[in-house]
Amino acid sequence: MSAAHDLLEETTIVAIATPAGRGGIGVVRLSGSNALAVAQQLFAKISWATPRHAVYGILRDVDGTRIDDAIATYYKAPQSYTGEDVVEIATHGSPVVLDWLLRRCVALGATPARAGEFTERAFLRGRLDLTEAEAVRDLIDAQTLEQAKLAAEQMSGSIATEIRPAKDALLVLIATLEAGIDFAEDDTPTMAADEIVASVRDVQQPLQTLLASFTHGRLMREGLQLAIVGKPNAGKSSLFNRLVEQERAIVTASPGTTRDVIAERVNLNGIPVELLDTAGIRETADEAERMGVERSRRAIADADAVLLVVDATEASDSQADALEAYLEAPLAEALQNRPLLIAWNKADLRQGSKSLPANTKGVVTSAATGEGIAELRGEILRMAGSQPSAAGATLTNLRQRDAVQSALEALERAVAAARTGIPHEMVLLDLYECLRALDSLTGQTTADDVLNRIFSSFCIGK
Ligand code: GDP
Repeated sequence: MSAAHDLLEETTIVAIATPAGRGGIGVVRLSGSNALAVAQQLFAKISWATPRHAVYGILRDVDGTRIDDAIATYYKAPQSYTGEDVVEIATHGSPVVLDWLLRRCVALGATPARAGEFTERAFLRGRLDLTEAEAVRDLIDAQTLEQAKLAAEQMSGSIATEIRPAKDALLVLIATLEAGIDFAEDDTPTMAADEIVASVRDVQQPLQTLLASFTHGRLMREGLQLAIVGKPNAGKSSLFNRLVEQERAIVTASPGTTRDVIAERVNLNGIPVELLDTAGIRETADEAERMGVERSRRAIADADAVLLVVDATEASDSQADALEAYLEAPLAEALQNRPLLIAWNKADLRQGSKSLPANTKGVVTSAATGEGIAELRGEILRMAGSQPSAAGATLTNLRQRDAVQSALEALERAVAAARTGIPHEMVLLDLYECLRALDSLTGQTTADDVLNRIFSSFCIGK
């Protein structure tokens, strides 16, 4: 906590809070003990008596020339976003007006804000915990509505709420063991090893459920890269187009992470999935084969999962054969340990049975008729591990995951220590370690460099 207070500065900061470019409205935000004083000098005739009321005023240049009309809102500390005095000034969304206003505020004594400084101040003043601050960034950066909803849930403090029972149980256990050490008159431990282990399990269980939420959380936040590979003419491009098609309206073209590979982002149930189509460029003859394999290999290296498209009219009836036939040795190696889904394509042309061969994982599709495409979308998500959290909260980034994992590891060490029957002081060391890990999750004890890294990933004005 001391580190947090050392970081707090007494300056009043200012930034344009709305995105660059023209718009209906643009907002400049001031935060700090002089925020109101600066605003009072900007507007001659505004009464600021009632906090959190929008007031109308006219912005004038130093020589009195009218610049714009504005609406200003004063938030009195501590009831503001940052916990400090805040003034938000909304003008018309003209970059030149906003730029002028920013410079006026600086001339009147405010300091340009660093990236993320408003949210950092909110955190340092205890208005947000660290997971809530991270969620502000994630909400602003969300690309799908589902991502935004997940961030909003975290912004409401769901992680702190979720770990509270575990933390309370941990504190009770620590207090009991501490009391035993302080008051034991002989060397008989106040708690038997079995009791300690049972108490630790009560702390572990909810944390394990929370940890399990990370697979889904990461997928939701970071999205999934799916490489589409297979022999020429298997139907990769056609399937790619089918997968992209349904969501055409919300698809944004993105440059491929691998040159030579067409990449497109689709929204599958709220999860941004980047499809990497290795059939993007075609050549003829042998050279083409070689380049095709190389392209596929690079796409696989970039991807989280792979969709292998097989022409079912050619394929033999087993997954192993299909893999062998379709993937040359270099690709087979690249594919190891990658989640793999097979699309048995051109089902419309296949004679006889359309069901999958036994012991075969995959989806029967036809890019021509659209058969199996919805199922394919579902399987892609299932393969990626998209299971909504069983916990009431979802961990969404590695920092959060690592904190919960450290807490669980410390608990395992506490169990091992308790079982060996060593003095409870030693068990307590591990329990305190667990407590520290949980505190670092919400930011009660977090190193300054970690904080700097988090807040510098925000944009200026947030
Ligand atoms: P790629 O080389 O793997 O990208 O294959 P394309 O998507 O370019 O498809 C090769 C040819 O197969 C094209 O003429 C497609 O129209 C055709 N094709 C692709 N999928 C299907 C399908 O499911 N059924 C049928 N009948 N034709 C398909």
